Amino acid sequence: MLQCGKGKQDTFAGHKAGLRGAAATALVFRVSIVENGGKEKPLGREQMAEDKKAEMEAILRRQREAFTAARPESLSARRDRIKRAIALLVDHGDELARAMSADFGNRSHEATMLTDITSTIGFGKYCLKHMDKWAKPEKRSTRFPLGLFGAKAELRYEPKGVVGILSPWNFPINLSLGPLMQIMAAGNRAMIKPSEFTEKTSELTAELVAKYFAEEEVAVITGSPEVAAAFSSLQFDHLLFTGSTATGRKVMEAAGRNLVPVTLELGGKSPVFLGRSANFEQAGERIAMGKMLNAGQICLAPDYMYVPEDKEQTAVDSVRQAAHNMYPTILDNDDYTSVVTDRHFDRLQTMVADARDKGAEVIEVNPANEDFSSTNARKMPLTILRNVNDDMMAMQEEIFGPVLPVKTYKNVDEAIAYVNENDRPLGLYYFGSDAGEREQVLQRTISGGVTVNDVIMHISMDDLPFGGVGPSGIGSYHGPEGFKEFSHARSVYTQPKMDIAKLAGLKPPFGNTTRKNIAREMKKA
Ligand code: NAD
Repeated sequence: MLQCGKGKQDTFAGHKAGLRGAAATALVFRVSIVENGGKEKPLGREQMAEDKKAEMEAILRRQREAFTAARPESLSARRDRIKRAIALLVDHGDELARAMSADFGNRSHEATMLTDITSTIGFGKYCLKHMDKWAKPEKRSTRFPLGLFGAKAELRYEPKGVVGILSPWNFPINLSLGPLMQIMAAGNRAMIKPSEFTEKTSELTAELVAKYFAEEEVAVITGSPEVAAAFSSLQFDHLLFTGSTATGRKVMEAAGRNLVPVTLELGGKSPVFLGRSANFEQAGERIAMGKMLNAGQICLAPDYMYVPEDKEQTAVDSVRQAAHNMYPTILDNDDYTSVVTDRHFDRLQTMVADARDKGAEVIEVNPANEDFSSTNARKMPLTILRNVNDDMMAMQEEIFGPVLPVKTYKNVDEAIAYVNENDRPLGLYYFGSDAGEREQVLQRTISGGVTVNDVIMHISMDDLPFGGVGPSGIGSYHGPEGFKEFSHARSVYTQPKMDIAKLAGLKPPFGNTTRKNIAREMKKA
């Protein structure tokens, strides 16, 4: 979904036109109005979103009132909320995983337990362990010589109030209840609008959150993209959005109208650099694992691979072999996740067809020679593309599926230049043991984060901030930085009893002291 100077377009713009099937019917026709003459007319989604906006504003008002009344929000109250969120996940993790699988068509139960349930529990525990330290006020220095007279400067991390969370479908729990842990650690209340594409999971999340939390603490609002748009126009104290770059722009515009600060966790094309010194067999395994997890529907998925020209065959063979070993069959293999909707599936098929038409070699990794055309399971095997160029959709958009283009370089400088010509990616991966080359790649490129000798893994380091840069995101959470992101850093300066203004010549009428002080400061560094 990169929009760069070369006419690149938004991958996800197309699928936001609306809900499909039963979900759309339920939302569009649930409410109707009676017109003159007694004829019933269904309310449109815009009208429903307007109605829902009033409901959301009322929840926001109640949350802010409760927040204000409860200040100072004690650390024990915050801890209790995080523990309740953890209990929700422990008690209902399996149920949530089943809902996610139903939403996707099939989603590996174990993979869901790892990526959405246990990782979110782990992050909650990490917050519990560190929040006392994060919340401590910091002593800062005062300007000389004020400290000598008893002046004090202190920084307090205070809660912001009510934080909105707009989350996507690809990791529906990790990306909603995950940030919630740190938002609550910072002492905030939260309203969550999960994705309309994972409707069953969103409904279950709403039900469970209502069971474990008072509405004044945490509330979940479900609904269409129009409801999401209305949600992004609420007067929150902070708004966290995770999703596509195109929607991120709209969210930032809507939040900007109210001067609501935002954290935007977006996407992009995360490159893999395979250095000549890489262990190709191991790299192939790790790349295939990262690319096929959640069927490639991961913001940090290795998007394309850049390999030395003379090692291309070895690189392709190693990824292919690893995919083979992990998924000997695909169609009936519960370990392998489906593409989330027909529309997303069709988009990936179009992307592969477009690459083939424009001259790419298409390698489908289909170890058991299964017939994918005769099923509607939306399972797609790993598809490697060779001989790609920038005219192909696959090199213009974030892929977000199990398609892996391979580019080649004679000299790693070419790969560095290519990455720098395009939008700054969310992740960047380097494989190799050549420390000089590794540093050359890291120091001459910019990306949200980096994993060396693997892919994606930096996101699972709770203590490292996670976020993008420019088109791949603004701000970050996880680590101590996440606590700060959801806090207001409030400066508190305490003036000593002594008349400092007079002493420093700040108070008119100005005289020699003032002039001397100015002269003392007017020196080059
Ligand atoms: P999306 O942008 O289509 O939707 C995300 C959320 O935005 C959904 O909840 C949706 O209801 C809401 N939304 C839709 N229209 C809106 C509008 N006009 N105003 C406000 N909100 C609106 O993204 P998606 O398809 O759900 O997720 C895929 C994208 O998310 C990919 O680009 C991926 O890279 C990115 N992503 C990023 C991260 C990260 O942490 N950086 C994580 C996961 C996914």
